[in-house]
Amino acid sequence: MTRQAWMFERDGELGQLFGHYLDSAATAQMLCAANDAMTHLDRGMRANVRRGGHRLGERTDELYEQARGTVARFLGTSAEQVVFTAGATAGLNMLAGSLCQCFGEGDEIVVTELEHHSNFVPWQQAALRTGAALKVWPVTSEGELNMLLLEQMITPRTRVVSVTQVSNVTGLVSDLTSIARRVRDVGALLVVDAAQAVPHGLMAEQADFLVFSGHKAFGPTGIGVLAARNGGLEGLQPVSFGGGMVAAVEQSGSTWVEMPWCLEPGTPPFSQALGLAAALDWLDRERAALEGVSRLTRLALDGLLSMPGVRVIGPHNRERMGIVSFTVDGVHPHDVAQVLDERGVWVRSGQMCAQPLMRALGLNAVVRASFAPYNTLADVAALLAGVDSSLALRG
Ligand code: PMP
Repeated sequence: MTRQAWMFERDGELGQLFGHYLDSAATAQMLCAANDAMTHLDRGMRANVRRGGHRLGERTDELYEQARGTVARFLGTSAEQVVFTAGATAGLNMLAGSLCQCFGEGDEIVVTELEHHSNFVPWQQAALRTGAALKVWPVTSEGELNMLLLEQMITPRTRVVSVTQVSNVTGLVSDLTSIARRVRDVGALLVVDAAQAVPHGLMAEQADFLVFSGHKAFGPTGIGVLAARNGGLEGLQPVSFGGGMVAAVEQSGSTWVEMPWCLEPGTPPFSQALGLAAALDWLDRERAALEGVSRLTRLALDGLLSMPGVRVIGPHNRERMGIVSFTVDGVHPHDVAQVLDERGVWVRSGQMCAQPLMRALGLNAVVRASFAPYNTLADVAALLAGVDSSLALRG
């Protein structure tokens, strides 16, 4: 894949891909608009934010806060409730570290078997630290959250429920409305991992807190968002400390500036914030592009289901957000991925950072194809042809 191919624009917004990139759920390609927004600042027109002192700094501050406003509008919350983080993982660690501080024995934290490790391990470690119990909500044999267990899993002892909006293995959408209703009934908090949802225009309206990453949403790497609704940020405490977030520092202790800035210690990823805001603006405008993604996903799903020996993970009759994971009987997922790679089809293979789900489904690994607005029918055809040829490896 040459540098020129990346720079060649197919539709004026997205760089044309050389080959068949079907790994956008891991990291999506970046929009030119996002790149342009960052370059605008980074080409000699940037200064640190919130440090004051000169006009260039003030201008960078202004652009950074405008970007926060754009993210807030996209998510349907207010700018004061948006924290820029290093990514979804950083946001989840911040939430687990902060929300669980006052938990103890008798309190329950609920996660699900669907979770990416980034939304599992921070809560597990918080539970181990505090003495709270970690309850892991099982999936059905088909790999969906078992909603029959809703009342059993979320009880008056539950303090926080952290669940993915879209599974990074099946692409299925969680029933957040039912979960949120139960969470409210018992007086707990709902955290939503929206890392795989935001790229498909979903933004967890029901959540008290949500997180996502820029690099999956056609923006830059190194940035993510932790956002709250209903003033939820006021319930958080800083868990990382440094410059920029302090009001006064004495030898005996320190005080913090107000939300959301006290949750952004050190120099924040301000260029990336501009890039992310530009990407979200594009997503907001280009809803039609997302319909194309769902058509391609359906075609890939149907094509794979028609092949003998190919098993698709998750129910087959439900809408998926750009993700199809599968296995090929008698062929290791890494070998399937290698056959595809030789044909210029780039998919992910392995455990998808979801060992609890793999264990629940009795799988060691899967192949995952994921789709984005820059994919085409030719990408789906190449995937299906490659999987078909991998069938020849069966012993
Ligand atoms: N949650 C989900 C559902 C994901 O798919 C991922 C990325 N694979 C993450 C969290 C973590 O995102 P990041 O690595 O960008 O922090």
